[in-house]
Amino acid sequence: MSRVYNFSAGPAALPLEVLETIRNDLPDWLGSGMSVMEVSHRSADFVELAARAEATLRELLQVPDDYSVLFPQGGATMQMAMAPMNLTSPGDTADYIVTGSWGKKAAGEATKFCNVNVAADASDKKFTYIPDESSWRRSDNAAYLHYTPNETIAGVEFHFVPGGDVPLVADMSSNILSRPIDVRRFGVIYAGAQKNIGPAGITLVIVRNELLDRARADNPHLMTWKSYADSDSMTNTPPTFAWYVADLVFQWLKRQGGVEAMAEINGRKSSKLYAAIDASDFYSNPVAKDCRSRMNVPFILADAALDKKFLEESAAAGLTNLKGHRSVGGMRASIYNAVSEEAVDALIAFMADFEKANG
Ligand SMILES: *Cc1c(COP(=O)(O)O)cnc(C)c1O
Repeated sequence: MSRVYNFSAGPAALPLEVLETIRNDLPDWLGSGMSVMEVSHRSADFVELAARAEATLRELLQVPDDYSVLFPQGGATMQMAMAPMNLTSPGDTADYIVTGSWGKKAAGEATKFCNVNVAADASDKKFTYIPDESSWRRSDNAAYLHYTPNETIAGVEFHFVPGGDVPLVADMSSNILSRPIDVRRFGVIYAGAQKNIGPAGITLVIVRNELLDRARADNPHLMTWKSYADSDSMTNTPPTFAWYVADLVFQWLKRQGGVEAMAEINGRKSSKLYAAIDASDFYSNPVAKDCRSRMNVPFILADAALDKKFLEESAAAGLTNLKGHRSVGGMRASIYNAVSEEAVDALIAFMADFEKANG
């Protein structure tokens, strides 16, 4: 077996231990003589799995009892519609902080349902900074404030939680479970699974229960958070395989020491990679230092003519998926929880060798 160091932005690397458990379980899950994909989501074994996944996630993130944990399908993108559909009535206003492509997409989706006030927009500097909170033009009567704690494409991360009294809605797709958070500061947290949770196909939503009553009465059943809260996310047939893998990832995280331990490792991984980039004239990262992402590290080669060679030689060395997003160019190393420190060390060593040979 040969495994590469996978720096994919998403779907992203999964822990090898989890993959090995899946392989062992696959044909005969818990002695049932069936795979987990072939059993009823209402069977006792699956209901137990679902309950354990929720309990473990609650433990990892210290989710208070007055919050519901939901596992819908549809990814983070569906939540960009569900947030305004569940938190506003027509004519209401929601505030959006746009610090990258995903926040911009969320704001655009919300305009279909309510008035959107873009209270801050970092597109003037190509999403390389977070406008100072004191400059945000927030509305007086916002139903909520939406922001993106980690912008996956440009590599911009909030290292603070915005203030204010209105419910905070956070798209944590690319940095959930990467460090401890105070869930109480948020009204709603949502995340697609395929970065730090598991395979694509399942979504995590954490919502304060008192907000569940604000949904529009004409929402489809599957676009209503309360439907999921009332049915333990078995509103219809859930994505059972993705849920099973997410449960294994949550257990793996617990064994690693939880999100506190991950925060320490993630801090080390990203610090040493940024230090290597900053120490060289050959590589650069354009993001303001106070908001660099610990999960997605974009870097540009001084000579873009070398990009192709960098990608070919890194792939040949077992370092894959380093191509940057087309809107940014250059390279991007996504170093989520399941990307080991060893992988980051190997990348740094490769970058130094490549610079020596081509710089
Ligand atoms: C990947 C990503 C998305 C899109 O997620 P889907 O599950 O594909 O809808 C949205 N927001 C952020 C911050 C992301 O990183």
